[in-house]
Amino acid sequence: MAKTSALRGGIDLGGTKIEAIVVDAGNQVLGSARHPTPTSGTPADVANEMAQAMQEAAQAAGTTTAALAGVGVGSPGSVDSAAGRVASARNLPGWDGSFALGPKLAKQLGSRVAIGNDVQVATRAEYELGAGRPYASVLGLFWGTGIGGGLILDRKPWRGRGGAGEIGHMVIKRGGRRCPCGNDGCVEAYAGRAAMESHARNEIEKGRKSDLLKIMERKQRRNFTSAVWADAIERGDALAGELIDGAVAALGAGAASAVNLLDVEAVVIGGGLGVRFGTPYVERIRTAMTEHLFPGHEMPDVHLVGLGDLGGALGAALLVTDG
Ligand SMILES: [Zn+2]
Repeated sequence: MAKTSALRGGIDLGGTKIEAIVVDAGNQVLGSARHPTPTSGTPADVANEMAQAMQEAAQAAGTTTAALAGVGVGSPGSVDSAAGRVASARNLPGWDGSFALGPKLAKQLGSRVAIGNDVQVATRAEYELGAGRPYASVLGLFWGTGIGGGLILDRKPWRGRGGAGEIGHMVIKRGGRRCPCGNDGCVEAYAGRAAMESHARNEIEKGRKSDLLKIMERKQRRNFTSAVWADAIERGDALAGELIDGAVAALGAGAASAVNLLDVEAVVIGGGLGVRFGTPYVERIRTAMTEHLFPGHEMPDVHLVGLGDLGGALGAALLVTDG
């Protein structure tokens, strides 16, 4: 039994999928399960789906959730780790208010549950286990539905008053494009997958030619997913190309501005689009950063995430080790 209690669970709660894993003391994945995130219902429905995925992952690892040392959760929205509450997770159904996710899951899983912010835990996973290992300071930049950021400064996570790392909402153009957050000119307004999609749909409605909708339908998706964007780029779709170029420029400006302020040793780039587009685009973002980097500042190392899209779940599992 002592051996079993060294096993930990990790759940990455994303806008499209729930990834649950069980890891051993060396952070090797012993079992995993992936469920689509419910698109309707309530936070309780999302919690049920998470519990099911975790139970499947435990089963795949030859154990039960009650036998785990604990389960960590990386969640979007505003996280109150002490109370296990998650508020304003706007990409999740019915989650505008606050919900006691931790207590609910703990009851269902028969296990201790620790909750952290999704990008903060993913950044920590890269720092401890992935591309950020050689460095004492790391900026995690997650290019997906939204733009997330996480910080390791002087070998410690920097959370500010809880909300640090919102690199997606650094302003790169005053009076610029409206951001999903409601402000204008944020990085995310130009680089977030959701913002790019709504801009593309507007352009198409105004008569602009693009294959994005056709590609989406062929892939039987309801949104312009990372795969849809990648396919459109591959076919040379002009509108998709313009928007992705704009995203690269915006990410470069945002990341360089953050580096000008913090002078971190490394920037690690992940997220759905980041992982999908991979190293060539990491290189493009690096190049875009150079023109905004403060003269005299040394360029930080810029890497693709080392843990792929498993970083969120691994980082969640690391929360359990915090006691
Ligand atoms: Zn914003």
